[in-house]
Parts: sequence; C-alpha cells; structure tokens
Amino acid sequence: NAKNAGKNEIQFFNKEMQKDVLKRIQLENGLFTAVRNNELYMVFQPQYTSDSKKLRGYEALARWEYSELGFISPGQFIPIAEETGIIIEMGKWIFRTVLEKFMEFQKRFDKKPMVSINISVVQMIEPNFVTMVKEILNETGFDSRYLELEITESVFISYPDHIINVIKQLREFGIRIAIDDFGTGYASLSYLHLLPINVLKIDKAFIDLITTQKAISQIVSNIINLSHQLGIEVVAEGVEDEEQLNALIQFNCDYIQGYLFSKPISEEQLFQMHD
Ligand code: C2E
Ligand code: MG
Ligand code: MG
Ligand code: MG
Repeated sequence: NAKNAGKNEIQFFNKEMQKDVLKRIQLENGLFTAVRNNELYMVFQPQYTSDSKKLRGYEALARWEYSELGFISPGQFIPIAEETGIIIEMGKWIFRTVLEKFMEFQKRFDKKPMVSINISVVQMIEPNFVTMVKEILNETGFDSRYLELEITESVFISYPDHIINVIKQLREFGIRIAIDDFGTGYASLSYLHLLPINVLKIDKAFIDLITTQKAISQIVSNIINLSHQLGIEVVAEGVEDEEQLNALIQFNCDYIQGYLFSKPISEEQLFQMHD
C-alpha cells in the first residue's frame, strides 16, 4: 500500500512540475541578490500626445538579466517579488534609481518630462510607503510634479479606504496617480468618479481590438469621454499601428504609448536621443 501511495505521489509530482518548482526556487534566490549583483536595470518607454506627437514623458520599466538564467521578463519576476516581499526592497531601489536618473536628465537637458513608475499593491499597503516616497524625493531633490505613480485598479477593490488615504497623501506632494491596465480587472465605469486619480491607462487588450470590434471601440470611446468629464487624462497602451492611432485620435485620446512610436529604450538611448 505504501508502495502504491509512493507511486501515486511520483505520478502526481511529475518531472515537469519538479522542473517548475526548481526554477521557481532558483528565481526566488536570484531575486534576493538581483539588486546587489547589478542584474536589475530600468528601461524607459516614451509617451506622446496623439495629435502632435509631442513628448509627454516616460514609463520606467524594470528589467532583470539573471546571471544564471538570462533575461527574465517582469511578467515573470514581479509576481514572485510580490509574493516573497522582495518587491519592497526592489521597489525602493527602482524608485531611487529612476528619480536619480531623471534628475540627471533634467540637469543635463533642461527639460522636464513626466516620469511614471509602476507601484504594486504590496508596496502601496506597506506602512512605510509614503515615508519612503517622501524620503527619496527629499534625497534626490526631484520635483514631484513630474512624478506619476501607476497602480492597478485591483488595489481599490482589496483595500479601498486605506488606498484612497495613501493616494491623498501622495497627491498632497503634487504626485500624479495613474490607474494602469484599465479594463482588465474589475473595471467599472460606474465607480470611476470615486477614484482620486489623474490619469487612466487603457489596457493593450482593448487597443488590440479597437479597429476590428465595434463593441470594443465603443467602450474605449465611452471610457475616454467619461474620463474627460471627470478631468482625468487618458493614455492608450500598446498602440502598434496607424489604424489604432487614427481611431484613438478620433476618440480624443490624450496620449499614446506603444511600439508604433517606440519600444522601451535603454538609459543610454534616452540620454543620446536628447544630446
Ligand atoms: P505595464 O505597466 O502595463 O507596462 C506596459 C507593458 O506593455 C510593458 O511590458 C511594455 O514593454 C509593454 N508594451 C508597451 N507598448 C507595447 C506594444 O505596443 N506592444 C506590446 N506587445 N507591448 C507593449 P513589460 O516591460 O514587459 O512589463 C510588464 C509588466 O510588468 C508591466 O505592465 C508592469 O505591470 C510590470 N512591471 C514592469 N516594471 C515594473 C516595475 O518597475 N515595478 C512594478 N511594480 N511592476 C513593473
Ligand atoms: Mg504601467
Ligand atoms: Mg499597463
Ligand atoms: Mg500591463
């Protein structure tokens, strides 16, 4: 009987799963030392106005070149960083690194583009979050009016009162708040007016279908109109072709981010572009 149970266990916990578990452990271990080992770096994707292609700013995106496994996408490592709590230290490093880079950028080029940083729920609900933000703003001297924080709508579902309170404190510094991936979660236009946000980013999943599905283009158009009525600016994410761009211009979308204009660029490219 014990023999049979053993057999079943081995069948259940098969080679594929064993590989997944080992990789997961390897990723967790690697993440703990990623910052210390200089394996983490940031890239920057520009956002432009949809009418005149004028630069609005950049979204900072994390990249991990893991010495043991090569390039690991943020879609893979951010969830692990969140589950393990590593996101707290990592998020602090990202925050400081991005603000330092953009201080340098502002000094060198005498230009002040917006800078957007993604913040995960785990960071937002950490009791020291607002203090951390304030400290790094002070340390770097970065003017918070050019800083935008991107959060997903799910944070409002899980911790509504607390999150609204945190956002109010952040907005008192002049920081702008964007709701990221809008439409993918529990998105509801009916509570949009309750969220203390400045910017709404329409998820790529909608943009992908905007030129082929009438119902989707109608929804996007409604999102944009309602946002404008509420004084919220709209960024379309993942815009890849002219047709999508034209539809978004027709709907009065404020800003465009996507491969059509530019993929995320390296720090070197960012500084070269403006030289
Ligand atoms: P996100 O914040 O929604 O970022 C947009 C993602 O779409 C980025 O993927 C970007 O490279 C990609 N993208 C932009 N335009 C296009 C396009 O035209 N076509 C396609 N196919 N993709 C496009 P990335 O850099 O892989 O990041 C994935 C997600 O990982 C981000 O989604 C964000 O949720 C998370 N993430 C990335 N960096 C950070 C970070 O520093 N902190 C936190 N907390 N999360 C991060
Ligand atoms: Mg984002
Ligand atoms: Mg997004
Ligand atoms: Mg996304």
